Amino acid sequence: MSFENLGLLPSLQKSVFAKGYTRPSLIQKKAIPFILQGKDVMGGAQTGTGKTAAFALPVLQILEKQNRRERRPRALVLAPTRELAAQVFDNFQEYGQHLHQRCQVVFGGVNINPQIDTLRRGVDILVACPGRLLDLAGRHSVDLSAVEILILDEADRMLDMGFIHDIRKVLNLLPQKRQNLLFSATYSPEIQKLAQKVLNDPVMVDASPRNKPAERVNQTVYTVAQNQKRHALAHLIKSEAWPQALVFTRTKHGANRLAGQLTKQGIDAEAIHGNKSQTARTKSLARFKENEIRVLVATDIAARGIDINELPHVVNFDLPNVPEDYIHRIGRTGRAGAIGNAVSLVADAERNLLNPIERLLGRRIPRKIIDGFVAASIEDDPADHSDMLRPNYHAPRNNASAGDRDNAIARPQRRRFRPRRRNNTPTRTSAA
Ligand code: AMP
Repeated sequence: MSFENLGLLPSLQKSVFAKGYTRPSLIQKKAIPFILQGKDVMGGAQTGTGKTAAFALPVLQILEKQNRRERRPRALVLAPTRELAAQVFDNFQEYGQHLHQRCQVVFGGVNINPQIDTLRRGVDILVACPGRLLDLAGRHSVDLSAVEILILDEADRMLDMGFIHDIRKVLNLLPQKRQNLLFSATYSPEIQKLAQKVLNDPVMVDASPRNKPAERVNQTVYTVAQNQKRHALAHLIKSEAWPQALVFTRTKHGANRLAGQLTKQGIDAEAIHGNKSQTARTKSLARFKENEIRVLVATDIAARGIDINELPHVVNFDLPNVPEDYIHRIGRTGRAGAIGNAVSLVADAERNLLNPIERLLGRRIPRKIIDGFVAASIEDDPADHSDMLRPNYHAPRNNASAGDRDNAIARPQRRRFRPRRRNNTPTRTSAA
């Protein structure tokens, strides 16, 4: 299967070849033909699967073929974070470089006036974070009444971040008749509810087995006392000569502190999180991509959507509270055929976070200790794993809420349930 077989315009093929893509990824193979046919699509795909191109390429093609000049946006992409929105925008720009579609991105944390000016000049594809979009709509600076295609990117994350009300408000500003695409890495009951509301007779395309981490990732748990973690991490980076690592902490404060401590130990590190200005975050990310810094310390929300190719090491300095976040985090490594390494530093107090992660993975992560460091005693009751390999086991999910997962602490867990299929629930397809 080639990009040509997918029916993509030669100018789009030229752009993807220029990016070095030789063949479409699974989600691209599955989703692009349906999107080109004008169908609503629910795409099960996480970052790293090529999902952005899976919607950006056909959306560009549809708009280009219509060749209709309009000042108002005709395609709207909603994304949960500024980083993801900026990245989706970059991809549209790159893929659409030989076409005539005008693309713009809008998100909060930066001056609104330049965004208003660009919107005034006319935009075909608008990539937006929900909050800033509603702000612009409230000022009558954007008119969404001509939107023909709506894309909800990382919809699961938007719900996790408490954007459901904003999404509903945006939906009310859109024309009833439109094509809808929804991408999500997970299928929680909340996502299914949203899908039922937004999608019309959708086709479901699934690119990665649900909640299954990248297969080419070596996962290791280092058991280490909490107060030794930072030294242990510095030791691993130096002794194993890691070229670069993306390190996750649970809190913004923890991210800052760790970046400072690593820098003191001679390892160039910077932190990105929600309290940093967009400019600072973009600069750190650019420096990391250019290999000017060796370690980027991030909270889950800030790291969401970051696209860094061939990242060799991802580190869980703190385990995430939500087991699915572990999958998202380690999905940052082992991409594009490379072998990745996901290292978790786990202290005694985190045992209760490790078990649900291993249940979700369906297997136990090998434990190791680091010579010269005090090991944590996280070994657990083998009975805890008894249901791990049960078919269709769904780990309980912590439901962190409204926008501040950066500071979240462990919350009571709620079991997932499988809702009954309704009439307009997405149906699976056996598309090639
Ligand atoms: P995404 O899942 O959209 O975040 O994409 C993850 C990475 O895969 C990005 O760096 C894309 O540039 C890259 N990518 C997307 N499609 C392909 C493809 N068909 N072949 C190789 N790389 C791709």
